[in-house]
Amino acid sequence: MFKYNQKYDCSNEPSFYSCPWIQHGLVFFRYKLTMCCYCGHVGGGHTLVKDDYNGQPINWEHLFKQKRTFNRLYKKGFINDNCVDCPFLQKRPAQEWENESGYISNLYISHWVDCNCKCTYCFEAQHPEEFQFKHKPYSVLPILKEMLQNNILKRGGSIHFGGGEPTLLPEFEDIVRLLLDYKFYDLRVHTSGIKYSPILERGIREGRLRVVVSVDAGSAETYKKIKQVPQYDTVRENARRYAAAQVHRKHALTPEIYMDGDLMVGTKYIVIPDVNDTLEEVESWIKADVEAGIRTTIIDLEENWFKAHEQDLPQSIFDFIHEIKKLSDKYGTHFEMYERVDNMLKENPERAPWYAQGQA
Ligand code: SF4
Ligand code: SF4
Repeated sequence: MFKYNQKYDCSNEPSFYSCPWIQHGLVFFRYKLTMCCYCGHVGGGHTLVKDDYNGQPINWEHLFKQKRTFNRLYKKGFINDNCVDCPFLQKRPAQEWENESGYISNLYISHWVDCNCKCTYCFEAQHPEEFQFKHKPYSVLPILKEMLQNNILKRGGSIHFGGGEPTLLPEFEDIVRLLLDYKFYDLRVHTSGIKYSPILERGIREGRLRVVVSVDAGSAETYKKIKQVPQYDTVRENARRYAAAQVHRKHALTPEIYMDGDLMVGTKYIVIPDVNDTLEEVESWIKADVEAGIRTTIIDLEENWFKAHEQDLPQSIFDFIHEIKKLSDKYGTHFEMYERVDNMLKENPERAPWYAQGQA
């Protein structure tokens, strides 16, 4: 549903509000196609392209017409409910936005739920009824091949995997191989790290694919408490193997774009208050990374906790994030915050002055 919202009205201007996903994005979810995978803001994201989707051929003409309709309405301030207050909605000159040529460069593949661990915070753990039918996921590979053949999928954006555990997806290796063969870059794969994937190793070596291993802990004990599988040592070993595939130089992906070979592998720590929010745990996590040659420190905040405390966030969570940043600086790692944490700091600059100063 599109509703008029004065703050986005650019009727008399050469610029208008949009985002890279409205212009060139497509997301494969289990039962639907959407424009984006973002959901941490008021409107809720996951802006719909098609409901009841299960791998049917895509009517590209119709899809790009939909995107042009978004442009037409957004210029006048009529915004889709799902996009309201999204931090990705930005005002830019019309010629930078308009998808007249009709192509996709931002992809998110997230249409299966199978996983090899059982995180306590997982959507699956919270809603087991939705996951009772682990039906065979539809096949994305033929759609990607069609997109490549028809020049609908182009390099220059980002291609990410979500869903359950990507390495368990039967066509995962084939999809990644296809994209690497076509010289795509900015591929990002989130993995539990329990199963080692040689195709990920190839992507890391070529400087085209970043792997994010979900660890959430600095010890086997905490890992088991959160992930509910005794795989800490396996995950650390696989993360070390991925890191060993990094080539320590700048990879020239295009004449203008370089990727730092040292930053191809990161581990992610979802802060879960009262479970893993101690500095000792975080320091052991970062130290284990550095010893393994991993130079990227990624944090997020547990979604259920965040939703329950969103209106009354304690100062302690802001301070804890700051302490993690300081530890990352101490060990010389590249610090990344996922959308939820980043938005929280952006929206509350007085509670995280260190962050506001860094942005200034
Ligand atoms: S919710 Fe945000 S990222 Fe998604 S399509 Fe809307 S503006 Fe873009
Ligand atoms: S790794 Fe992801 S999909 Fe698997 S259990 Fe954890 S949160 Fe769920």
